[in-house]
Amino acid sequence: MTTPRRLIAGNWKMHGLVASLDEARAIAAAVDAKAPSARVALCPPATLIGRMAEALGGTGVEVGGQDCRAEAGGAFTGCLAPEMLVDAGATLVILGHSERRAYYSESSADVAAKVEGALRAGLEPVVCVGETLDERKAGRALDVVLGQVAESLPGALAGQAFCLAYEPVWAIGTGLTPTVPEIEEMHGAIRAALVARWGAGHGAAPILYGGSVKASNAVEILAAREVGGALVGGASLTAADFLPIVRAA
Ligand code: PEP
Repeated sequence: MTTPRRLIAGNWKMHGLVASLDEARAIAAAVDAKAPSARVALCPPATLIGRMAEALGGTGVEVGGQDCRAEAGGAFTGCLAPEMLVDAGATLVILGHSERRAYYSESSADVAAKVEGALRAGLEPVVCVGETLDERKAGRALDVVLGQVAESLPGALAGQAFCLAYEPVWAIGTGLTPTVPEIEEMHGAIRAALVARWGAGHGAAPILYGGSVKASNAVEILAAREVGGALVGGASLTAADFLPIVRAA
């Protein structure tokens, strides 16, 4: 198996109106021109997925969802099936983001079921894991994250394309980041767990880092060992903030 390309993915969270598609177009225009070595994706709110997929069709930028349910359909008011994301033009989906785990009580078992749903629909899952500040201070960061990795990744992922995203909860939206040795320690431990489970070939899935990535720290973070890309929140909302991160990959 060849080593998968790095992925720089933007998570727009609950931000973005139709006018924001201009930023997505500006990002796509620059990505095309530069032919970056990394894949680039934007994950807008569900209301924009279809329009963004149309606007970016044929460019080098993929469009993804931020969440979905596991089921293909049913009486789940306000929710989206993975098949609906595909129908709207998404090729990947973020699952298990810490905001979903914290605000919607999603367990790693829930995340694993969603991953299976995503695979059924043909979406590439980007599975998020990460410890809280209390867990890190208590010396439990590795245990917590490796537990989430083991429980959030179903056996059905064998042979399928997917990404992990290590996002320390305390680094998201705070401007704080772990040190490079801390990132390398965690990514190395996650890599070892993937290889132990699936062997060197499939265990090569990219491990993205997420949490306050911005132009000023992207070069250093993306150069860290076992960092296979970045999941970017706030700095993915504008071309001016996001493109330097893409160029650093
Ligand atoms: C995120 O929420 O996935 C994230 C990484 O956010 P930010 O870059 O804003 O910290």
